[in-house]
Parts: sequence; structure tokens; C-alpha cells
Amino acid sequence: MIVKQRMNYINDVLKEKYGERTLKIGIDGGFTCPNRDGSKAFGGCAFCSTRGSGEHLKSVPIHEQLESYFSSYKASRANSFILYFQNFSNTYDTIPNLKEKYEEAIVGANEIIRQKSLNKKIVGLSIATRPDCISKEVCKLLSSYQNKLDVTVELGLQTANDATKQNLNLCYTNEDFLNAVMLLQKYHIDIVAHVMVGLPFETHEDLLKTVQFLNGIPIQGIKIHSTYVVKNTKLEEMYVKGEYSPLSLESYLQEVMFIISHIRKDIVIHRISGDAPKELLVAPEWNRHKKWILNGVMNRLAKEDIWQGMEYQKTDT
Ligand code: SF4
Repeated sequence: MIVKQRMNYINDVLKEKYGERTLKIGIDGGFTCPNRDGSKAFGGCAFCSTRGSGEHLKSVPIHEQLESYFSSYKASRANSFILYFQNFSNTYDTIPNLKEKYEEAIVGANEIIRQKSLNKKIVGLSIATRPDCISKEVCKLLSSYQNKLDVTVELGLQTANDATKQNLNLCYTNEDFLNAVMLLQKYHIDIVAHVMVGLPFETHEDLLKTVQFLNGIPIQGIKIHSTYVVKNTKLEEMYVKGEYSPLSLESYLQEVMFIISHIRKDIVIHRISGDAPKELLVAPEWNRHKKWILNGVMNRLAKEDIWQGMEYQKTDT
């Protein structure tokens, strides 16, 4: 079995769907997060950087971000693109404001493509957010774009262990996550769940429970993130005090193999590592080397003869 067939990987899925390489354009929508502005909590999740995981995005108007993207070499690498509202909670605003920003991106990107006479197209809209920021109104707005674009919502779960979520100040629960999934499903919006491997207080048993939880709900994709420590976070304080040690690369790869072999075959795997901002990374050092992780996963799949879902029946509950 060739490596490509061993997991239901996003690059292959997009290529098959759109007939060519398809890239995501990361957008900073200028949103914040209820876990930062005090409506849920201050300070954010223990691992979250001050830019809400958007260090490589520019805090400038959306049309400037798009102009800059389509003028860069990045745009030359594909002809199909997905607009990806990436950092903070991109459904946390009034409906008119959300509509304005999403449409600034959709209309703006198409306008740039038209003005520059580029042979390119926007095929999707992807929105990253928290489960407690999904409402009926948000779903209605997002589903209104579905006649022209494939719409996906990326929802943070991180772990199915509510005690870990509480300890790390995530301020949402599995129940919030399930409610969001049910609402999105009702509006036929695809869901990608974010999970983190190597969180403080977590054991392998917790990871098993997270995989079982995800196998039991109607999601279409997962992103697997390695837990890393960045500057100016609660996790950095824990790391400095010796209260947290990141996983070794070896242990991380083992856990990723576990997820791949136990997750349902139909779930598309969108990521197999976290992308730490290099200038802010405190630990682990291996997180600087994306290739080590990607190659490590691909090599192990082949060497250990692992394929997605091979152990699924055994963990299904
Ligand atoms: S919910 Fe997301 S943006 Fe908000 S603090 Fe947590 S990780 Fe950061």
C-alpha cells in the first residue's frame, strides 16, 4: 500500500474534489475571543498566543491581506483557493459585522482575481471558531454562502476530557461542542475538529477517549496539533516552573499513529502537526522542524503498516 492510500489526507481530498492543488488563504478577520475579552474569561486558553494563533498573518484590512497574497509567490502555487478566517474566534461578533467581513473577503478576492485577469478561483470558505460561538444565526449566515462555496467550520475541541479543558482555561465543554456540531450538521456545514496531543494533565487514556468521542459524532475532518509552548502564555509559566514537559518527537509520532489507526476512515485528516511561530517557540525544539514530523508520520505509516481506521471497530463505542 502506498503512503498516499494510508490516510484520508486533505491535500489528496482537495485535489480530487477540485481537480487541482488547492490552497488556503489565511485571513485575520480582526476578531477577538470571549475567552480573552472577559465575557467568558481573561487571558485565553493556557497555550494560546497573544495573536490567537495568527502570528504569520498581518493585522491590516482584509482587502490588503488579499492584495498582498495575490501579489506574492504563494498565489502562483495553485489556481483554487479557500478563504480561511484563522485566528481568534471568527464567529464571535454581531451578524452584520460577520457578514461584512466574510463578504469583504469573498467579494474582495474575486474582484482581485478579475482585475488581475488571473486564471484562479475561490472554491471555499473556512471559519475557525470556538464551539460556544456557534448559534442558529451564525449557521444561517454561513449556509447562505453554500450555493457558491464549500463552507467548513473548524471547531476547537482539543480534548474530550472536560477536566483538562477546565484546568487549561478553555471555558467550554464537550456539551458545548456537541451542541455546535448538531447545529452545524442541521445546516449541512462541514465540521473539522481540532485536537491537541500532549496537553498538560493528559494521558494516553485521555487521547483514546478523545478519539472515541470524535468517532461517535458527525464530523467530516480533524486537525491534529502538537502541543507546544510559546512565550507569554500560561503554559510557558507551567513549563518554566517544571509543571509541564512537552512530549518527545518519538512519543508524539506514536500518538499520531494511534489517532490515525483508530479514527474513522471517512474523517479527513487536515493536519498532523502544529505550526509554532518560530520566534515565539519555547519548547519543544523539534516543533521547529515540520519535515521531521511529516516525514516521521509518513515513514511510520509505511514501516509499521498502519492505515487509517484499521483499529476503528475496536474503539467504537
Ligand atoms: S478559544 Fe482560541 S483564540 Fe480563544 S483563547 Fe482559546 S485558543 Fe485562543
